[in-house]
Amino acid sequence: MNKGIYIVISGPSGVGKTTIIEKILPRINAFYSVSATTRKLRPGEVEGEDYYFLSKEEFQKKIEEGEFLEYTIYDNEYYGTPLKPILAKLEQNYHIISEIETNGAKAIKEKYPEALLIYILPPTMNELRHRLANRPEYTQEKIEQRMKISYQELHEVSFYKYKVINDDLEKTVDTIIEIIKKEETSIKK
Ligand code: 5GP
Repeated sequence: MNKGIYIVISGPSGVGKTTIIEKILPRINAFYSVSATTRKLRPGEVEGEDYYFLSKEEFQKKIEEGEFLEYTIYDNEYYGTPLKPILAKLEQNYHIISEIETNGAKAIKEKYPEALLIYILPPTMNELRHRLANRPEYTQEKIEQRMKISYQELHEVSFYKYKVINDDLEKTVDTIIEIIKKEETSIKK
């Protein structure tokens, strides 16, 4: 059996990571790593599918118990990758897809140097702001806060092997599938 690839997808809030991953998953043999977070559930999100939604106390307890492969604080909330499912799936040679921000991506690259890091960029920052404004639950303050974090993040994406501009969803998905196939071939060699 071929070795699985640890695929990390990052990108600013609103760039379309979740939709892209939803479209990639049926096309490759991969396990989606569901993160834990202390932020509130957004409309349409499902516990255990989009995230494991935890209280701050529950999250901190899990940190102490060493249950996270990595974790970070983003926009004043905790986000972390549960370790156990990842170890099990890597042993079974599955690809893993993680949707995480840049600190987490760096931590994973340190632990798994062969991880495949892909950063999704918006066509323009105005387009990103527009997409964030379309989230009904986001206040103007929230939009500005997420935009500020995005600008900061964009300064530190040089360690990502691939950067893909999401100006057309289907094209973006095809490009990422091509990247994964290319990496699979280079691993087999
Ligand atoms: P959102 O609140 O928009 O779902 O996610 C905020 C940010 O947290 C996004 O950049 C997302 O990729 C990142 N994120 C989600 N889960 C994790 C995780 O487990 N670890 C880290 N480091 N970042 C995460």
